[in-house]
Amino acid sequence: MRKPKPPVPEKRSAVQAEAACVCGAVRLEIDVPAVWAWHDHSEASRRAQGCAYATYVGSWKSRFRMLAGEERLTRFEDRKAGTVRSFCAACGTPVLYERARSPAIVNIPRALFASRTGREPRYHMNLTEKADWTWAGEPLGPLKGYPGVMWARPKRRREPLPDSLFSPEEA
Ligand SMILES: [Zn+2]
Repeated sequence: MRKPKPPVPEKRSAVQAEAACVCGAVRLEIDVPAVWAWHDHSEASRRAQGCAYATYVGSWKSRFRMLAGEERLTRFEDRKAGTVRSFCAACGTPVLYERARSPAIVNIPRALFASRTGREPRYHMNLTEKADWTWAGEPLGPLKGYPGVMWARPKRRREPLPDSLFSPEEA
């Protein structure tokens, strides 16, 4: 009888954080803590994720594992930008964002994780491309007659006429 093989040493750290797409077909995990977490205000990420800005958790690829649904991922390679974005073909959730400038790191939208990732998103990148309609925490008040709807009061007293090209504040 053969001797049982010694157990293969686990590469996983003690703690993992699991992420999933909205339909649940694609699941992955990273070892915690992640490398870092950052807000991406680039126009490309804004479009790709359909949001004001994207918040990513960066993980070493060696500390990242697909758990399910890898075959469901569809890749979009932007050769000019040197980026690859992978999303779930079933539900459209953006799952992976890889950049040629950081080949050892894979970025995963923070929103895909239900649990903590060991890093707070303290860093902002591509702020020069930030959308001017991004809500930046301005005070909100309830909108009269619409329960559950909050709104930010306009900064200007008088709104410019719809057909005016310039408002005095912008001139
Ligand atoms: Zn999905």
